[in-house]
Amino acid sequence: MKYHIWTEGCQMNVADSQRVASALEHLGYQSTDHAEAADVIVLNTCVVRQSAEDRAYGRLSSLRPLKDRRPDLVINLMGCLVGVKGNPRLKERFPYVDVFSPPSDPGPLLAFLTQGETYQMEQAETQRRYAYMDGDLALPVEARGQLVMAHVPVVYGCSHACTFCIIPFRRGIERSRPAQDVLAEVRSLVAQGVKEVTLLGQIVDRYGVDQPDGPGLAGLLRLLHPIEGLERIRFLTSHPSYMTDELLDTVAELPKVMPHIEVPCQAGDDQVLQNMKRGYTAGDYRRLVERIRQRFSGNGSRGGNGAATDGAAIHGAYPRVSIATDVIVGFPGETAEQYQHTYDLLDELRLDVAHLARYSTRQGTVASRRMQDDVPEEEKMRRFRLLEELQERIVAEINARYLGSTVEVLFEEEVKGRWKGRTPTNKLVFVQAGRDLRGQVQPVQITWTGPWSMQGSLL
Ligand code: SF4
Repeated sequence: MKYHIWTEGCQMNVADSQRVASALEHLGYQSTDHAEAADVIVLNTCVVRQSAEDRAYGRLSSLRPLKDRRPDLVINLMGCLVGVKGNPRLKERFPYVDVFSPPSDPGPLLAFLTQGETYQMEQAETQRRYAYMDGDLALPVEARGQLVMAHVPVVYGCSHACTFCIIPFRRGIERSRPAQDVLAEVRSLVAQGVKEVTLLGQIVDRYGVDQPDGPGLAGLLRLLHPIEGLERIRFLTSHPSYMTDELLDTVAELPKVMPHIEVPCQAGDDQVLQNMKRGYTAGDYRRLVERIRQRFSGNGSRGGNGAATDGAAIHGAYPRVSIATDVIVGFPGETAEQYQHTYDLLDELRLDVAHLARYSTRQGTVASRRMQDDVPEEEKMRRFRLLEELQERIVAEINARYLGSTVEVLFEEEVKGRWKGRTPTNKLVFVQAGRDLRGQVQPVQITWTGPWSMQGSLL
């Protein structure tokens, strides 16, 4: 029996798909890249942008002939298109879908597949959201010993109400996973060969806020840090309002926690930020970036003591911490002047990564009910392109500072004869090597840099 999973969207969906794969393999299924060869097809969907939603509908429609030919084929629609409360309209529109599952929950599919079989999942277990995330995670066969980096959800859902965002409606309120579950899962992943974990949450720096007796994110990082065989820990996505000094100190202090902070600003204009209901100003964001950089610049920080995983900090002249942001252009009512404030903020802050998006209305959001999508598409595109060009120039300049430096690279896989890996600051590096580097951390001297990647030689 074979399964095929199609995944759209964020790292949380990638992690959810991994869990579905793991659960299916527990039932004896094997993975296939070809939907036509599968007995179970899972479409793990995303609705954060209209284009992602359109792709999900397209993929779903393309499965119709297959289902007509093979009625025993099981089609499972999962993720944000379904949402935490379910979506009855989908059932009417796509009657050939067998199972609808909310985000992060393989339960409905497993219950469907095991119905009537000798092997029965305990009903209580299938209903528990975390039942398959309790640390007994078995990676899909092809990933065991091969997967170097894995994503581990630590906070589900989001209780913020940014006016443009559909996530709270689709993934439900914020829930942190118990620290013991996260610990057990990371230990299990490391035992199967994983070297780096990225802790995921829509607002990951709010980890533990809903569990007053448990640790916060800083405490969780300290619990994970001693795990033997675990080389690196990352976390994303942070919210500017919750990035505490304690968390930054922890990142700077613990050698296995990588100095890369993903913290979206979304806009650089106070009125637009207020309309988005983000809860901070451009000035707050500016001060946060300054605070992050200061924490990594002086003696006594990771940069000063040259932590084991960041040898480059000793030899190189590049920034010792990298910062990534998200920006939406063309939010309802955004004037040319307000957009210019966003442009100026990015120009001033010179961040390592900017994930850029053009605003699109998502049904059900506050913005869709109360605001008019009034920035013309061509204008959105013009604003987007200008930021893209600006950011490309900035990143090329930042990366050029790595030239000649020695960086510690964790290698993931071989791509077209070159080994691909990442620096602690999350920069992509390629090297030529006549040997297997998978899962190894190696010092690399950087010999070429561009805006999207670098090349180097093994020392
Ligand atoms: S913080 Fe805002 S943008 Fe992020 S998931 Fe929550 S509602 Fe969406």
